[in-house]
Amino acid sequence: MSLTANCTFDLNTSSDFVGKRSGYIQIGDSTNNSGWAHHCVPITSVKNGSGPRVLVLAGNHGDEYEGQTAALDLARRLEVADVKGEVLIIPVLSILASAAGTRLWPNGQNFNRVFPGKVDGTIAEKLAYFLSNDLFPTCDSVIDMHSGGRSMHFIPSITMVWVSNVELRNEMLRQSLMCKSEFTLLGGEQPSTNPDSLLPGDVVRQGKAVATGEFGGSGVTTAQSMSVISSALENYLRGMGVYVGKDVAASVYADSIDHSGKIIDSRDYSVSFASASKDGIYENRVDLHQHVEVGDLVGLIHDFKTADNEVVEVRARRSGTVALVRGYSPVTTGDVVCMIGELFSDIETFEKSLQEKSAR
Ligand SMILES: [Zn+2]
Repeated sequence: MSLTANCTFDLNTSSDFVGKRSGYIQIGDSTNNSGWAHHCVPITSVKNGSGPRVLVLAGNHGDEYEGQTAALDLARRLEVADVKGEVLIIPVLSILASAAGTRLWPNGQNFNRVFPGKVDGTIAEKLAYFLSNDLFPTCDSVIDMHSGGRSMHFIPSITMVWVSNVELRNEMLRQSLMCKSEFTLLGGEQPSTNPDSLLPGDVVRQGKAVATGEFGGSGVTTAQSMSVISSALENYLRGMGVYVGKDVAASVYADSIDHSGKIIDSRDYSVSFASASKDGIYENRVDLHQHVEVGDLVGLIHDFKTADNEVVEVRARRSGTVALVRGYSPVTTGDVVCMIGELFSDIETFEKSLQEKSAR
């Protein structure tokens, strides 16, 4: 158990406990303005007797507001009668970053790179330690909602890392498809990154399935991104057997929800990513959903300081569907500015293609 963080209400109630509680994860802090302080992260529990415990997380990155909005909405409206088991919601993990409109915490830490945390580390590391040691082991499943933040813009979609553990991968795929999103985006491990340092990676390290999504980006919510995330979250909770309430997302967003279950396979990051080869102002030359062929122009980089220099072209390294474009124009060499994947009409077509490739 963590010595440096705790919850203001009891997280270890008996299995037959019934009630809705809101409070804080309190992390020990000491600041210039308050010698004996706590950094407080809101948490809500809605429990109705025995059943699965599902943890809903958002705001891992501060400038990804789609998940935070959906999780805050869920925490406000979820009632005991809607639940079987327990839904635990931490809607804004990185509060200081969220308030500042930044991906990273004010001390420069990326919350999604500090796992499994440190009991005596920074505030972010203490929070990660609490999640990793006190919460994840007690949960049956976890959903961690992301988006492109200010710098990127994804097709709003459920996303899944193609983990090497086949049993876990199959369970994660089952949970992803349970969300009934229009798109499920399959990716590989983040390049040049320790996968266990990510929040979802830490859940996987503990042998548990984790659902994730990239529900838009550019640091804004849109009607479309909120429709996709609200529906996916509700379907996820219902699929896990923990939500037994009304179809709220369907009633709010009835006209715009698409459950067609298309797959975009961008697992091979060596060709799926296109990156900036120069600092400058990036111009998207393709839009989300657009089909491109290998070698097609996807963007241009303009020199900040002079119109005399030629623009630098960024070209597709594979054919496929554009799943990610740049969300913010200034770029630095090495920034990913576009992601392309192979589009499949449904999971069956994707799996058939995998079988054909392995048979070759
Ligand atoms: Zn994120």
